[in-house]
Amino acid sequence: MQAKTQLMPFLFVLFFASISGGQTPELPTTETLQEFRVEAERFADLRVLRYQVPGFDELDLRTKTLIYYLYEASLSGREIIYDQKYRYNLVIKRTLEEIVKHYPGDRATADFEALLIYMKRVWFSNGIHHHYSNDKLEPGFDFETFERYVQETPGHYPLRQGQSTDELLAELRPVIFDPSVDSKLVNKRTGVDLVVSSAVNFYTDVTQADVEAFYAAIKRPDDPTPISYGLNSRLVERDGVLIEQVWSVGGLYTEALERVSFWLEKSVTVAENDAQRDAFEKLIRYYRSGDLADWDEYNIAWVNDANSIVGLINGFIEVYNDPLGLRGSFESVVSIRDPIASRRITALAEEAQWFEDNSPILDEHKKTNVTGITGKVINVVVEAGDASPATPIGINLPNSDWIRREHGSKSVQLANIIAAYDVVSGGAVAEFAWDDAERERNDEYSGIVSVLTTDMHEVIGHASGQINAGVGTLHETLKNYGSTLEEARADLVALYYIIDPKLVELGLLPNVGAGYSAYDRYIRSGLMQQLNRISLGDDIEEDHMRNRQLVASWAYEMGSAENVIERRRRDGKTYFVVRDYDRLRDLFGQLLRELQRIKSEGDFEASRYLVENYGVKVDQELHAEVLERYARLDIPAYSGFINPRLVPVEEGGEIIDVRIEYPQDFTEQMLEYADRYAYLPAWNF
Ligand code: ZN
Repeated sequence: MQAKTQLMPFLFVLFFASISGGQTPELPTTETLQEFRVEAERFADLRVLRYQVPGFDELDLRTKTLIYYLYEASLSGREIIYDQKYRYNLVIKRTLEEIVKHYPGDRATADFEALLIYMKRVWFSNGIHHHYSNDKLEPGFDFETFERYVQETPGHYPLRQGQSTDELLAELRPVIFDPSVDSKLVNKRTGVDLVVSSAVNFYTDVTQADVEAFYAAIKRPDDPTPISYGLNSRLVERDGVLIEQVWSVGGLYTEALERVSFWLEKSVTVAENDAQRDAFEKLIRYYRSGDLADWDEYNIAWVNDANSIVGLINGFIEVYNDPLGLRGSFESVVSIRDPIASRRITALAEEAQWFEDNSPILDEHKKTNVTGITGKVINVVVEAGDASPATPIGINLPNSDWIRREHGSKSVQLANIIAAYDVVSGGAVAEFAWDDAERERNDEYSGIVSVLTTDMHEVIGHASGQINAGVGTLHETLKNYGSTLEEARADLVALYYIIDPKLVELGLLPNVGAGYSAYDRYIRSGLMQQLNRISLGDDIEEDHMRNRQLVASWAYEMGSAENVIERRRRDGKTYFVVRDYDRLRDLFGQLLRELQRIKSEGDFEASRYLVENYGVKVDQELHAEVLERYARLDIPAYSGFINPRLVPVEEGGEIIDVRIEYPQDFTEQMLEYADRYAYLPAWNF
């Protein structure tokens, strides 16, 4: 499943949208991100960031109220994932929170600092296993220290029936401090029982073979519209029989799901339109029944809700935390459609024929009637569960294959999240840019230029060109090179036009020179920076990485006689500097023409030649240098986000406004959530 686009460790944001620019002459500006402190703090291998919600204040009261209800629905379910991940997570979380809230002694000690960092890592990972590596976190303090903090802190510890604090400590000792106990959240190694060797709390007293046999017995292989078996339950053994404990109102996690449903019901009363209301009602019905056929009904309604401003993703959705890929982790994302991006995309889509007609591709490969593709760009208001604090930057749902086939899917980019990443990527730009002019161009224009190139890639890139009559589809003819070639082709359309005066004329770009920063960036990234994402000695495998290197290294080689892109050295470091932007544009145009020819004619050999010669192999010396330079930059490997805070303003029991605040402190937000949304019992086994 490819439902989420994750940002790789060590940020590399290239052609992803952001909204930081706002310098375009005709479109409304958003608050500049430069004035907003994006990075809140760092600890361990993590960085906590903040994001803004452009346009929230301008929304009408009904829309704000709707968003507020969905915000509460999201956060009400936020603790479910702790228990889903590991049966002791909530007990440990609550115990640590008691210490952090109430410890009366000296907090300025190395031990307390270590405990606080562990607490923050647990919050960040929604449990005691690392959110990315799945390994159990090392506490950084010993059991005796933990024991002392518990004994010295008066608090309401999460005790089982009749359990003493000492017994609680004894039970938690191996769980937290013995690295061999439940060491891996999700085990994906072959040759072992994946269910038994994974700590995840989706299965109790069952083996992998049990699970497989259980579902083999109830699945109908000829069912054209299968439900998502196992998606919303824990599978347990009771008296020799396997049963699904369903996560529903009245079932497991009812305490949280009742609150989620309560807020969803309120959302129904202020829905924007019938399609959205229908989706909310079907989601509530599903939480009540726990019936996966209701989940499918909901997903169809969700796909059909195509015109609403406010978006909600809510449910047990992604299955990455299940070694068998059946059970979904709770997540919730509330968003509003980005109005500025929507206008930008409309402006491009309306001119799609002009871009096609003026493209450097051969006339016979041009479409006579091209329609721009209109993707969706959203701004997140709040995230919870699996989507928080670490978040995807793109989401494509639903996951059910037959629903996608028969009813379609929705794909969104999380613009304000991407914009926040964009702001903090400056350190790497400073390292790899040649001079101040390049850095300044990047600082001033990268926001608007990156959103515009992303939009052009999607709206006029993929939409352009046509395949010759009688030639098969891209994947039939170009096979494993098809995706790389198609991504390169869409990138090249964007690159070709990003320095075209047409964009200035359309009011999408302040001046042609702004587009130069896109060229600097593409070359810098395609030839050097993206290598940070792979290990020394490895070839490039990922399609987008291949296409970027292909485009950048082909242009570098073809322009070498005229020195269009110059390779320079300074203080033992390598730089690639664009010396002639217009010539580079010509080269991009030539390659675009060739890639379109390859696609239109289905020329497999030519696609293989280009990808294998320019996209796959890595210069080992340069790669080692890139890794070394990144290592010295000391950029945390992973990022997550503090959510905005919504505060209803009430008068006489009526909501008269909803205020948005941007909290600065991760710990404060986590403690606020602990106070307000701890609906689940700590022990659920
Ligand atoms: Zn693409």
